[in-house]
Amino acid sequence: MKKDIKKKIKTEWDLSHLYSSLTDPKLEKDMQLIEKTAIAFEKKYTKNTAYLKDSKKMLQLLKEFEGLPLMVNKPLYYLNNRAQVNSSDSDVAAKLAQYTNRETAVGENTRFVRLSIGKIAVKIQKNFLKSPELKTYHYMLSQIFKNAKYNLSEKEETILGRVQEPASDMWERGFGKMLASQVIRYKGKDVPISEALGLIAEKPKKERLTLHTKITDALLTIAPVAEMEINAIYAFKKIDDELRGAKTPYEQTVVKYENDMKVVESLVDLVTKRYDISKRFYKLKAKILGQKKLHISDRAAPIGSVKQTYSFEESLARVGDAFELFDPQCKKWLDNYATEGLIDVFPKKGKRGGAYSWTIYGISPLTFLNHTNGFRSVMTLAHEAGHAFHSEYANRAQTPLNAGYSFATAETASTFFENVFFDKLYAELSPKEKIVALHDRISDSVATVFRQISFFNIEKELHGRVREEGHVTHGDIAGVALKHLKAYTGPVFDYDKTDGYYFTYVPHFRYFFYVYSYAYGGIISRALYEKYKSGELSAEQIKEIFKAGGSKSPEDIFKSVGIDTRNPKFFESGLKAIENDILELEKLMKEQKKK
Ligand SMILES: [Zn+2]
Repeated sequence: MKKDIKKKIKTEWDLSHLYSSLTDPKLEKDMQLIEKTAIAFEKKYTKNTAYLKDSKKMLQLLKEFEGLPLMVNKPLYYLNNRAQVNSSDSDVAAKLAQYTNRETAVGENTRFVRLSIGKIAVKIQKNFLKSPELKTYHYMLSQIFKNAKYNLSEKEETILGRVQEPASDMWERGFGKMLASQVIRYKGKDVPISEALGLIAEKPKKERLTLHTKITDALLTIAPVAEMEINAIYAFKKIDDELRGAKTPYEQTVVKYENDMKVVESLVDLVTKRYDISKRFYKLKAKILGQKKLHISDRAAPIGSVKQTYSFEESLARVGDAFELFDPQCKKWLDNYATEGLIDVFPKKGKRGGAYSWTIYGISPLTFLNHTNGFRSVMTLAHEAGHAFHSEYANRAQTPLNAGYSFATAETASTFFENVFFDKLYAELSPKEKIVALHDRISDSVATVFRQISFFNIEKELHGRVREEGHVTHGDIAGVALKHLKAYTGPVFDYDKTDGYYFTYVPHFRYFFYVYSYAYGGIISRALYEKYKSGELSAEQIKEIFKAGGSKSPEDIFKSVGIDTRNPKFFESGLKAIENDILELEKLMKEQKKK
């Protein structure tokens, strides 16, 4: 890295390009402008409905709609991000809650767009989709037309939208509060349950087991509340599906992520049929750990560590260099984020855990890390940078309504860049470190692909049972969770009867099937990367995928570079790549033994 860049790196967010502080008068002014313009927009077009018949008027409405300040809600973007770096700042939390409510009201002002366009007569729909002036919006319009069958009347939408909070969301938050208040007595200290769950992986075998037992005991005491929570949320979902005429509990999610129903069903089928891959990995893991059998608390246990450390400056330089080969622009973007204060790098008190990169249209992405100089930290930077680049490509190529990409493709870019970087770093490691790095990568793939699909299968079964039986006990929920856990992890594990109680703390089960998007993105990006590595796809073609943003369906975006996700063979090639990693790890283990 050049010296002048190193000097200018900022490791804390500088959000002054958004607002100077929480009391910046611009914050309230911007929010009021969002509200005022949304109300005026609603007023204008509920009186003047010519856009429903005339394509020129429709174009005018869409352009006006996408130019509304609500499309780039800077106040909420600012507050949400500030809440992440300091979760104990109650002033930020209060303002965030207030502005979130105001945004919900703004949503009600503009909901008529989707509802009224959805009601356009089929003959006019066809004309709109043929009209050259509406070309930019063809895909979006076709989505609205296609999904109109799920719409209710405006009044019904309002009722359903408003009762969502007490009927479902408050249950989830209430149980979340209860879960967060649980503490485990460990080594003379009270440890919050979330922290205890994270500790398991770091501890030696005996302590892992102790922690696991204590956590399970705590989960059992709150399980009756989790039972009511899950039943309430699933019952509300059943009502929603019935009113909207959705035939399966996952239909609305697949529609929302703009995927092809058959593609998603075949993905779930295929991964479930290839659980032999994840089972083979755990069998090998037991061998590496020197254990005949694994306990569930061993699942995330490390097998060693990569000794090299990567300071943030070094990580930045390495990640930038790896991506420069793909596109020199990527390195420039990354260096710019670091010098402009757009990456919040290190863990600190009050800062939430994890990592993300997030942007709104027309603004450089903000990246949130908890960098600790380890191998995982530098991989995380590569992953989050991938998300940021995806947004940069899409925002530059598309209009606001077409830039936002689906959940299903969101993980494609991030994991693709992670793969690019992994290969470069892997080549530099010692044989011992290679074993650790490869193990960690396979472990992540198993968690992204096989574990998430097992979650999908759990949700499917539970929704089915709530619909048939009316109520499912916590014992039954845990039973379903354990059955599907066993299915993908295999007989190398010895299970306790209570191991299925992990359902209480896995938030995914409350978000209805969104888990498949991880598996979808994970497999596709791996298959894409293999095609890029072999030269079958060029960097330009991969960039086309990222530039497409949300202007087409995920299936059509991939098809435009010759990838047919409707053909199961494509997913098979992604799974094959994960299997090859396992074969490589087996080989490395054998070589090490010989020495
Ligand atoms: Zn990600």
